[in-house]
Amino acid sequence: MQELLNKALSGFADNGHSLFSPSGASTWGNCAGSAIGLHDARRDDPDNVPSVEGTLGHFCLEVCLSTRIYPVDIKKAQVQPFIEEVTKWRNGVLANKANTAKVRVFVIECHRRFCNADFDSEMVIEIAKTCRVVYQYTSQGYELYPELRVSLELFMGHTQCDGTSDIVLIKGTHLIVGDLKYGQALAVFPENNWQIMLYALGVIAWCISRGIDIDTVDLAISQSRIDNNLWDVWHTTYHQIYNECIPKLKDASVKALEVLAYPEKVTKDHFNPSEKACTWCHRRHTCVARSRFTQNILLEHYRKLDPLQSTNWKPDNPFVDCIDSAALKDVIQAKPFIIGWLNAAEKEADRRCKKGDTDLGLKLVKGSRRRSYYTTQQPKIIADIVACGVPFSDAVTIKPKSPAQLDKTNMSSDVRTKIRELVKTAEGNPIVALESDRRPAIKPLDANQYFKPLDANQFFK
Ligand code: SF4
Repeated sequence: MQELLNKALSGFADNGHSLFSPSGASTWGNCAGSAIGLHDARRDDPDNVPSVEGTLGHFCLEVCLSTRIYPVDIKKAQVQPFIEEVTKWRNGVLANKANTAKVRVFVIECHRRFCNADFDSEMVIEIAKTCRVVYQYTSQGYELYPELRVSLELFMGHTQCDGTSDIVLIKGTHLIVGDLKYGQALAVFPENNWQIMLYALGVIAWCISRGIDIDTVDLAISQSRIDNNLWDVWHTTYHQIYNECIPKLKDASVKALEVLAYPEKVTKDHFNPSEKACTWCHRRHTCVARSRFTQNILLEHYRKLDPLQSTNWKPDNPFVDCIDSAALKDVIQAKPFIIGWLNAAEKEADRRCKKGDTDLGLKLVKGSRRRSYYTTQQPKIIADIVACGVPFSDAVTIKPKSPAQLDKTNMSSDVRTKIRELVKTAEGNPIVALESDRRPAIKPLDANQYFKPLDANQFFK
């Protein structure tokens, strides 16, 4: 193992992170080929505004949990011990040549905010929600270990899957591992989630080294910015986590190490495209295996959707009547993959256009004006309208803030509770989801319940 590790790591600059982190487990755990180009990715993978904001959110949580306070109480002196760490992070983002000017400006702003303990009101409110849950556990006698560095060497046989767990709480033989998700793009759930399961195993290894026995485990995702999904818990056990993760991920990590150590021996069998693996893979824009896989899906589904192949086909039958249910389900299942592939292709085209590639046959044009431009100008526009003689009450419409906007304002928890009681949320329109979706199915309305058969005689008396 040591020889394989040395060979795989030769030429890699040590940036303090392991090669196959728990957060990337769905990629390297499903596709060993994703390790190719990891060297470039560690240096050049661009950051984006949400990821930078997420890191700031994690720093905010770390300060709070380490000093047992809420974000609103963070004072300059309390962030002082963390400033060196945050400055190192800012310098890393600035040094990455792939980062856009927008990301650079944003990380400088985040760093400034952190140094002045001046977090925006949404971050103060959202991080406080997670702090509140954690402090409820500590008040029940749980020991809290924030930002715990964990090693998976005991289970994996090497140190290249190590990571940092956001929240660890222990009481007796019960372990709680919490992970903060500050992003809003994708809802994350704890059930069978490799990332948080690996963190839990790392924490269990840490417990074993201290003689602490762990039996039952709660894995929690705190993603309050999506549907108020504040502390979504999966109750499990050490054995369930071990059996679910280690047999597969230990092998997968060794295979990925072999890909790095012996690139000349890599074959197409090392690539295993799937939505899970490819979504966050740094090679997704350029990977031949993924491109090929998506083309096959497209061709297969085009054939399935070809009305001429359908047994239902008749010249006057509408197209939709020719699609059978199995084909429809397959197409919907493949949708995220196809869309992801198209987005990746568009991103690559965008990159080439920005580089000035004139042979591409595509060009950059001005996008439509963003609404934020208009909203930031609103006070001036209103003042100008009023200056023209239009009464203020005619120039503006006053309307109540939405529940989501109200949630972001500073108010006491009593007032917030009272206001929430006033808010009645209407149900959204039903949407199509896969069988695997954890939301319960709703029964379609039965028209017979609502409409009686018409009596023609009634109309033609
Ligand atoms: S894009 Fe998908 S198939 Fe290609 S290397 Fe990455 S995970 Fe593997």
